[in-house]
Amino acid sequence: MADNPLRNLPSVNEILETPGLQSLVTEHPHAMVVEAIRDELAEVRSILKANPSTNHIGNPEVLAERVEVRLLQRIRPKLRKVINATGIVLHTNLGRSPLAEEAARTVYETASGYLNLELDLETGKRSSRQVAIREWVCRITGAESATAVNNNAAATVICLRTLALGKEVIVSRGQLIEIGGSFRIPEIMSVSGAKLKEVGTTNITRLSDYENAIGPETGALMLIHSSNFRIRGFTKEVSISDLVSLGRKYQLPVVDDVGSGALQDFSKYGFEKEPVVQESIAAGADLVLFSGDKLLGGPQAGIIAGKADWVQKIEKDPLMRAFRLDKMVLAALETTFRLYLDEKKALQEIPTLRMLETPLSTLKARAEHLANQLRVMAGLKDVKIAEDYSFVGGGSLPDEKMKTIVLELETEKLSDDQVAYRLRSGTPAVMSRIRDGKIILDLRTVFPDEESQLVKALESSVATRQ
Ligand SMILES: *Cc1c(COP(=O)(O)O)cnc(C)c1O
Repeated sequence: MADNPLRNLPSVNEILETPGLQSLVTEHPHAMVVEAIRDELAEVRSILKANPSTNHIGNPEVLAERVEVRLLQRIRPKLRKVINATGIVLHTNLGRSPLAEEAARTVYETASGYLNLELDLETGKRSSRQVAIREWVCRITGAESATAVNNNAAATVICLRTLALGKEVIVSRGQLIEIGGSFRIPEIMSVSGAKLKEVGTTNITRLSDYENAIGPETGALMLIHSSNFRIRGFTKEVSISDLVSLGRKYQLPVVDDVGSGALQDFSKYGFEKEPVVQESIAAGADLVLFSGDKLLGGPQAGIIAGKADWVQKIEKDPLMRAFRLDKMVLAALETTFRLYLDEKKALQEIPTLRMLETPLSTLKARAEHLANQLRVMAGLKDVKIAEDYSFVGGGSLPDEKMKTIVLELETEKLSDDQVAYRLRSGTPAVMSRIRDGKIILDLRTVFPDEESQLVKALESSVATRQ
């Protein structure tokens, strides 16, 4: 009985008093330390019950160390910095667009003090928070007016409500898409209170299909960019300018959900053509909707640009209060738009654009530099530089892969899954790709100033001894 390891386990107080835990006790709430000790003891009890020969884990010093690990794990932030080595530029699970440094700085500056969020500093009178972006969006896109809400899903809801509450909105069957994360156009429409009127077929929709569906119940005509899928082969879609002509003929507003918010023609960089906001405005769309954190490269937001009358009506909708942007997002969005006043500057400073534009030669030089550091690292059997593909991701340019240069790492003892797990668990976390038993690192989405952290993370993840 005397050597029953369960009976010999130290008490909570004994563990609390071990020298190893003293700094933990002074730095963290007492109740959390006690909770960690209790949980650790419970786990040790069940281990000992199953396997009494492991009684060394009941030693107070060993317990104290495990308590510390447990507590520090428990209190670390849930949102952590991630080094994105996946090569997916707009990675929805990793926060889509990283902000330009200047945009992040304005978030800090405006958020850590007061700001003129709804105050006209000229007159000293109350103003609208939308002023912060309206003028920039108009200047850049040519729109008459503009406003912004939480995301493009919210933009869709509030637009359709304003344009077609209780009425029909005519949409092509080929554009009734699901973007992911349960954003389905038909469901969003029904939430808005507008009725969906589908026309055409999956692959072919003609202008006459829209025209034949117009009736007394019609409230609006809508185009939706099929952002993350493509119908190939025998297909036909109506252009925004043709739909605008039809809308004018019947005095119906036309909405264009362009999705990714490209403010320049990406086909000039060799990508497939994405709808450009300016072109849709120029074609005469009443309202153009797009996301802030896709190709625009800003914070999560939904921008509504178009005719001033409609924008004004939207801003008066009571839902606007629920959908409006917070001051931090507004600050980031304003700065992002301001960077577009100079297209060259936008390309240099907005990480999303910069990453899409990074030439292969730059990636190759970076990969070679890193490979030299990795080749001497214990735990790695082989380090190769190879050609591969990066992806735009994030519901834009779905088929668009770009040539890239990756590092292929073969580990000595640990499996690829083990290494990927360790990389994800570190601080900062590292997201890699796995292929054929190898860890693949695409530097396109790794910021150059993250490279030394990446090397350190690899060092501790591939080593077989902790
Ligand atoms: C991405 C996308 C949306 C949804 O935008 P969020 O900003 O993610 O809400 C809506 N419509 C289209 C066409 C899109 O591409």
